[in-house]
Amino acid sequence: MADEHKDNKDFEKTQKDLAEMVQKLMQEVTPRINPAAEPKQPETDEEQKKKRDKILEFNLKPKDVKKYLDRFVIKQEDAKRVLSTAICDHYNHIRLSKNGKGLKNYMKQNILILGPTGVGKTYLIRHLADLIGVPFVKADATKFSETGYVGGDVDDLIRDLVHKANGDIELAQYGIIYMDEIDKITSAPNAQGRDVSGAGVQRNLLKIMEETEIPLRNPQDIQSQLQGMLDFQRSGKIQKPMVNTKHILFIGSGACDGLRPIIEKRLKESHIGFGSQPKKTDSASASNILKEAKTQDFTEFGFESEFIGRLPIRVVCDPLNEEDLYQILTACEESILAQYLSSFSAYDISIHPQEKALWEISKFAAREKTGARGLFTICERVFRDLKYELPSSNIREFTLNPEMVLNPKSTVQELLKEERKIRTDQILRSIDRFEEIFAQRTNVLIGFDLSARETIEEKVLSEEHDAEKWLANLLSNYEYGLKLIQNRKPREKFILTKDVIQNPNGTLDEWIKEAYDK
Ligand code: ADP
Repeated sequence: MADEHKDNKDFEKTQKDLAEMVQKLMQEVTPRINPAAEPKQPETDEEQKKKRDKILEFNLKPKDVKKYLDRFVIKQEDAKRVLSTAICDHYNHIRLSKNGKGLKNYMKQNILILGPTGVGKTYLIRHLADLIGVPFVKADATKFSETGYVGGDVDDLIRDLVHKANGDIELAQYGIIYMDEIDKITSAPNAQGRDVSGAGVQRNLLKIMEETEIPLRNPQDIQSQLQGMLDFQRSGKIQKPMVNTKHILFIGSGACDGLRPIIEKRLKESHIGFGSQPKKTDSASASNILKEAKTQDFTEFGFESEFIGRLPIRVVCDPLNEEDLYQILTACEESILAQYLSSFSAYDISIHPQEKALWEISKFAAREKTGARGLFTICERVFRDLKYELPSSNIREFTLNPEMVLNPKSTVQELLKEERKIRTDQILRSIDRFEEIFAQRTNVLIGFDLSARETIEEKVLSEEHDAEKWLANLLSNYEYGLKLIQNRKPREKFILTKDVIQNPNGTLDEWIKEAYDK
């Protein structure tokens, strides 16, 4: 009996030790396995329910959604209209299904967005996810191979959604998965040569684009398995939570450059649409051609027909020209310029950009040919040195002119030189004032020579002192000391040199000694 009791105790202890070990291990491995697994704010059940209810009560109309997108996204009118409608259809269907009124054979309206880089494809979807209040996961198709990618496979996208939803599986089940560079998983011969694994990745994705159950715990992932053990230890039950993908919206996107000649060829052969003689295309008409894409073009391009068939909503985003970039820079909510201005205002620095300077930025950005990303590149170049230098200077306001955009480095140097000159003048005035006040208080005349003035200037500037206060403190013994000397051996004026500034008390002692020695 005693033995049995001991055995039980030992068992409990082992279990406790095991749980502690697992907990420690979890804390240790989590950041290494999944650097994105930043600690999330714990949410109460009430908060999670509120989020789910918001989705289940979805009642926006396509025009409401578009109006919301208009606040942030410049241009892309067609895309905004189509996406707004598709999103409303999708979340209306979810609401109806939850009320038992949904169509049984409703086909999920997954979306394919085509268009060059940096024109707002991801940005549109991020804002849609924000508006609806669903978790959003972005992945890059190039990371996947037929047999999975480092650390997991396409199923991990679903688990990432749960992570984004703070562990709320139901909320994750209404989320959005956005897969970029979808054109890199085509299986036809293309610029990179024949990619045999592309078709396999497409087939893997098909599974999550339709309805399936994905285990929350990845059998190949140590972290998941440790979590499973921990849960088992806590509850005494083996739990195998599953995530259903029925209502997860899947969005693929890519530039699909190779699709254009295929469409052109078809159009040429059929003598319709763009006519039988398609000319060399500029980027704007290129996006018009993409709008003509049919399923057969996509399959010729290398998408499996089943895969492309599961992406029935197709949207094309247009390239952005200089005017669009100017609008993005200045006009939309959370504009890039607003971001930069706010990073300066954190140091109480106000920037007044001239309109011409902003056009200059837009012009340079357009030349980058990376859409709105070009604006970030150019702004970074223009503002980099200013951001570093200005917070430590006395400049609290400046006007951004076109010259600054053209030569950011040299203009920052000019600005700093000018600022140094203003500061130096201030310091010199403070030195004069110090001499005057000293004379008034002591009836002894003093004068700093050039070497002393330069040393003061250097010290005050590098150590950011208030010149007058600093001098008063440094020379605090001089009022009494010089008066002593004046009584014994009067001088018309005491000339204070660099030695006084570098060694004030030593120099004063020597002077007093000299005066009293003879
Ligand atoms: P992509 O088309 O490659 O997905 P993104 O949507 O990621 O490009 O755009 C990059 C950034 O550029 C966005 O985060 C946003 O700040 C800005 N941006 C791009 N297009 C637009 C646009 N049409 N309107 C406003 N901002 C845009």
